Amino acid sequence: MRLSRYFLPVLKETPREAQIVSHRYMLQAGMIKQATAGIYSWLPLGFKVLRKLENIVHEEQQRAGHLPMLMPTLQPGELWEESGRDNSYGPEMLRVVDRHGRKMLYGPTNEEMITDIFRSHVTSYKELPLTLYHIQWKFRDEVRPRFGVMRGREFFMKDGYNFDLTKEDALHAYNRHLVSYLRTYERMGLKAIPMRADSGPIGGEDTHEFLVLAETGESEVFYDSIVTDLHLGDREVDYDNVEECQAIFDEWTAPYARTDETHDAAIFDAVPEDRRKVARGIEVGQIFYFGTKYSETMGAHVDDGKGNKVPVHMGSHGIGVSRLLGAIIEANHDDKGIIWPEGVTPYHCGIVNLKQGDAEADAACESLYTALTGFDLEPLYDDRQERAGAKFGTMDMIGLPWRITVGPRGLKNGVVELTRRRTGESIELPPEEAVARVA
Ligand code: ATP
Ligand code: MG
Ligand code: MG
Ligand code: MG
Repeated sequence: MRLSRYFLPVLKETPREAQIVSHRYMLQAGMIKQATAGIYSWLPLGFKVLRKLENIVHEEQQRAGHLPMLMPTLQPGELWEESGRDNSYGPEMLRVVDRHGRKMLYGPTNEEMITDIFRSHVTSYKELPLTLYHIQWKFRDEVRPRFGVMRGREFFMKDGYNFDLTKEDALHAYNRHLVSYLRTYERMGLKAIPMRADSGPIGGEDTHEFLVLAETGESEVFYDSIVTDLHLGDREVDYDNVEECQAIFDEWTAPYARTDETHDAAIFDAVPEDRRKVARGIEVGQIFYFGTKYSETMGAHVDDGKGNKVPVHMGSHGIGVSRLLGAIIEANHDDKGIIWPEGVTPYHCGIVNLKQGDAEADAACESLYTALTGFDLEPLYDDRQERAGAKFGTMDMIGLPWRITVGPRGLKNGVVELTRRRTGESIELPPEEAVARVA
């Protein structure tokens, strides 16, 4: 992409409404524009990162054997009357009445709708296990929308639902989700810790939240620091293997890690003192096992093969895809701007031309552009007639992992400058070698 043809409305002034760094940088880098409280337009740069996160979530869900689908944003009110949550969900639900006076709502979550789909089509245990998911906009009329996309009213969420014949099978689905979530967050360059949590309005017995440690997080968390040393890395996981998924679950949940809702000081005090940490965290996902809560009230039964009709065991599992942008920036930035992890960066390498219009500099930039593209990397070429300082400021703010700076003086000696955004280290080297380093 060439900046002269892009839409990157970088703000010169610090937006005053932003209380935390991720919100400020997303506005300053021209990634989002507020439409009204808690509702945002995603401008090209923000949208590009959002799509990358969405893709990672899709890949990891499908690797775990979960099936993608898409449910609508608007739901009929009757389904929620049937489950009983119409009353209990409260004012976070945005209710709408259509021209015929029918009650509708903008979905805050989809347990009712997916249970309705399931009961309409599945009648036998032979069709289980089944896990369906979608990534769709949700609406929750939060009392205090704030922190930009971190606590929006409209937000983008992956929500998945498992249907199983027995509790054991459903707990395997739970573990499968835990593993696939760990992998998802790692690919995004994040350390997200699974923590014992409280089930809230979804209801249920077993639940873990995934928290990214950050001072600006809204949850208070208590954990044993050894949990932060765990990595899945490129460990091959057979998601159908019950013992293997259970072992990973055990490994990650053995160290003490809880949110304030389930914190138990007596157990925490048994953790060696130097490993006992109290911190703040951002909730980027949650998994639930809730048994037959919805299948019983909504009549989602299957034939169990022994002549009985039994309610299926279910769970639901969510990832806050749009909130993750904020969480990633909270965990990866400096005073100049964002520092994207490689796995989610909107572009891989910036090219800064110090003397636009100089035949040699222009030609060198063009050939870098072609070479990077040839390696399947996406360059962002600042080809505008701008001062060098302004070009560097923009590149630092939008935080691409690499920058190649091209100017007539370096070219005379056959070199360009390669800079790593995370460390600020720069080296001079011939253009081909710069490309090889980035690739
Ligand atoms: P919170 O405690 O932050 O209000 P929640 O527990 O109500 O979140 P869940 O129902 O567990 O949210 O939804 C799954 C995920 O969706 C959450 O883990 C979070 O990452 C994301 N999410 C929830 N509410 C919002 C919101 N208002 N804006 C952005 N993302 C959200
Ligand atoms: Mg909430
Ligand atoms: Mg929560
Ligand atoms: Mg939650």
